[in-house]
Amino acid sequence: PPAENPRIVVDAHGLPYLDAKLPVHRRVADLLSRMSLAEKAGQMTQAERNALRSPGDIAAYELGSLLSGGGSVPSPNTPEAWAKMVDAYQLRAQATRFQIPLIYGVDAVHGHNNVVGSTIMPHNIGIGAARDPELARRTGAVTAKEVRATGVPWDFAPCVCVTRDERWGRSYEAFGEDPALVTAMETVIQGMQGAADGRDLDRNDKVLTSAKHFVGDGGTEFGSSTTGSYTIDQGVTRVTREELEAVHLAPFAEAVRRGAGTVMPSYSSLDVIGDDAGPVKMHAHAEMINGVLKDRMGFEGFVISDWQAIDQIPGDYPSDVRTSVNAGLDMIMVPTNYQEFTRTLQEEVTAGRITGERIDDAVSRILTQKFRLGLFEKPYADTTHLGAVGSPAHRAVAREAVAKSQVLLKNDGAVLPLKSSQKVYVAGSNADDLGNQAGGWTVSWQGASGRTTTGTTILEGMRKAAPGAVIDYSKDASAGTDGYDVGVVVVGETPYAEGIGDVGNGHDLELTAADQAAVDTVCAAMRCAVLVVSGRPQLIGDRLGDMDALVASWLPGTEGDGVADVLYGARPFTGRLPVTWPKSEAQLPVNVGDRAYDPQFPYGWGLTTLKRSPGGGELTLKAIALAARVLEAAGRARSAEAHELAGTARLLVQQRIGQDLTEANAKPFAEADHLLLKGDLTGAVARLTAAYRAA
Ligand code: BGC
Repeated sequence: PPAENPRIVVDAHGLPYLDAKLPVHRRVADLLSRMSLAEKAGQMTQAERNALRSPGDIAAYELGSLLSGGGSVPSPNTPEAWAKMVDAYQLRAQATRFQIPLIYGVDAVHGHNNVVGSTIMPHNIGIGAARDPELARRTGAVTAKEVRATGVPWDFAPCVCVTRDERWGRSYEAFGEDPALVTAMETVIQGMQGAADGRDLDRNDKVLTSAKHFVGDGGTEFGSSTTGSYTIDQGVTRVTREELEAVHLAPFAEAVRRGAGTVMPSYSSLDVIGDDAGPVKMHAHAEMINGVLKDRMGFEGFVISDWQAIDQIPGDYPSDVRTSVNAGLDMIMVPTNYQEFTRTLQEEVTAGRITGERIDDAVSRILTQKFRLGLFEKPYADTTHLGAVGSPAHRAVAREAVAKSQVLLKNDGAVLPLKSSQKVYVAGSNADDLGNQAGGWTVSWQGASGRTTTGTTILEGMRKAAPGAVIDYSKDASAGTDGYDVGVVVVGETPYAEGIGDVGNGHDLELTAADQAAVDTVCAAMRCAVLVVSGRPQLIGDRLGDMDALVASWLPGTEGDGVADVLYGARPFTGRLPVTWPKSEAQLPVNVGDRAYDPQFPYGWGLTTLKRSPGGGELTLKAIALAARVLEAAGRARSAEAHELAGTARLLVQQRIGQDLTEANAKPFAEADHLLLKGDLTGAVARLTAAYRAA
């Protein structure tokens, strides 16, 4: 294992690429000019740590990168053990001729979610519901700090996918169904990486990001498989060229502008309507990766394949390798057969089927990020911030995000917020289950029910928020229901990752029979609020009539306190739907802008419990116009204060919208919101003004 405070003595080597004072491109050129083909092939290889036959293979194969796939964790699974584990691999890479450090990658998609005790953020769908770009940035900063403290400089996040059909099992990894909303939340990239030019990457609280999955992963067709199995995940995205640009490519253009260091292609295939090509696997799509991403958008980072994804390209393995590398992939997440990959890659180059220029371009891109990350100077974990993993300060950010992500869909008779004087009956499968409220990608790849890490369940949060209040809990609502003031039934999904999602619920988005029974029992006996803890909308149907209040809680993560904050009124409900809430299975897929749009709740819907401003004055159109102007100024100034002001202004707008939103006028508000997110403030104000005049 590495010594206590390992440092390489760089000066002893004396070669230009080790001179940190030289510009990165000079260092890259110097190092590249010295490397053999085998060394270059190694840099383009990423293996899974568990696939290593022996740690010595890191040096033997000159591996450029290792990853922990979801749930590939050290034992014990502590932040300290993570740092030691990554350092031990890094030490092996120092046993190579040029001591090129590894770049270690993980999926920290809602906090440093592989590590027990870390701060688990709401999954992205909740961040989209909060609609607060500055908050999104802060969640990214917290995640980056926790990840880098454990010696990991690279995060396979964020997913900038646009969910078009909620039957997709990765819906919760998306910020929403509207590309403008997804794009607006990409401030998370700055939170993780710092400045777009990469100058902050060598800080001990920043990580390299990966915008994924390029492109169209959220737009795949449902049920088109000939085998009878559903292929919505990793399936075919069939879109017009216009839709491809406006819906699926726009968030990647934004990621490139924001300096995302890497991009990961999608497992899916792309079939552009009107083109003769037919479906093409994204990992083989030269026109999209070389043409659009690198040439047109000017992406200068490197492209990392998805897990074993090149194996899905039709043809034998040598063809998979040359097709993907020639399409513009720079590093392959092999992740097990690294020996075969490095050998095949070299054979393809020697045979002239991949050019030396293409290899040099790929390796230059990879080395550039390694230099920027400062890995040559400091390959080992800087554990200064290890104590910040799961710290109260970090949990406070997560708690704020949870509270702001809660969407109040219905609130008859102002049943919410609850009062601490009320006697409350709590029921449902997700009221007291930390694992369920964290969802997939939590400690293990698929996630799991129960107390898988440290945190606060919704029930525990409620009891903390109203100490001394009677808050009784009966998961299946079998305990007597007499005499209570109000019921809170927390229903929803159990954890899953990828595929079609919750196996218990199948793909149909129905509540489980047990949850339906709990709702029926409690809502028949008392006034009731139903919370849906899930990665996507669930079908409520006619039961909506039995519920006094309905809340979309998404997958809040470890800070159930944030849910309790809005339930008890410590914070207002301000979240709004990032996706359309469908009425029925038959309606799917359904998205805002569809010609026949008649969902249960429209995109952008969300009531607020925000108090009217002191003095009781009604907010006027003037206030909205003012708010919009502040937003505009904030957008230009880009200072921290301006962002705060912008947040306040946004709340003012939300307050007005929340109070006046009805099914009939929801659409103009959704459109105004869309314009606001796109930065078209004049358009948004005009739309709002027109809506008020009409109402
Ligand atoms: C997922 C990616 C992830 C990768 C590495 C794949 O199965 O599609 O999103 O980054 O695994 O864990």
